Amino acid sequence: MTIDEALRRYPLPRLESRLLLMQVTGFTPAKLVGYPELELSPVQEAAFAALAERRLSGEPIAYLLGEREFYGRLFLVSPAVLIPRPETEHLVEAALARVGRSPAQVVDLGCGSGAIAVTLALEAPHWQVSAVDVSDAALAIARQNAARLMAPVTFFQGSWYAPLPPAAVFDLIVSNPPYIAAADRHLEQGDVRFEPRRALTDEDDGLSCLREIAAGAPERLLPGGWLMVEHGYDQGDAVRALFHAVGLAEVETLPDLAGLDRVTLGRRAT
Ligand code: GLN
Repeated sequence: MTIDEALRRYPLPRLESRLLLMQVTGFTPAKLVGYPELELSPVQEAAFAALAERRLSGEPIAYLLGEREFYGRLFLVSPAVLIPRPETEHLVEAALARVGRSPAQVVDLGCGSGAIAVTLALEAPHWQVSAVDVSDAALAIARQNAARLMAPVTFFQGSWYAPLPPAAVFDLIVSNPPYIAAADRHLEQGDVRFEPRRALTDEDDGLSCLREIAAGAPERLLPGGWLMVEHGYDQGDAVRALFHAVGLAEVETLPDLAGLDRVTLGRRAT
């Protein structure tokens, strides 16, 4: 089979066929376009067929490629971690804009692939960034991402604040926790079906992790410190109420590029 035949073989979007073929052959985009008559080896042909079939059965392209771009950098991903999403870049933007680049203690609760923590550590080199996740498999990916991108992040295994040193306090706490309600049909659709369920839903009303993170924030924030969380488009009112209930000030919800409520911020009074 030639490159051109391979690209036409499966009913996939052409870009996805190209990406999978690049993965299998190691060819650059220019080589794929420039040598359509080049013959694939039988091994390459079989590897491409296997990936194409998996994609056709719904597996996310990011898992098949083993990587996804976030905030301009490539992150390793596996089915042990949520695939980084562009909406989450708003959380990074908000953190960099509000906290400033001078020295700060920062923690990412439920870091998954490490996309947020690693990005913050690299974009704000004076920040000391810690990252927590309950999943050992996720932490293994996050550690690899930090190492590959040379981001100095300190990792802790456990649930939310539990594994942090008892006296540790922060200028910024960020989190993209599981916030989809257990009954939400979204869990049965598209890429989400292949992602770790524990990273997506609290198996409850979608707010229980956000509630726990907000409840623990006041005693972990320095005066003037920020809590910033990602949440569902329909959870803005509820999350602002949670932030107010624990005494946070300057509470505000920011929209994503679709204009939907996505990130809520609050601040411990000084
Ligand atoms: N934004 C993701 C989705 O809707 C969910 C991410 C999360 O639960 N933290 O697919």
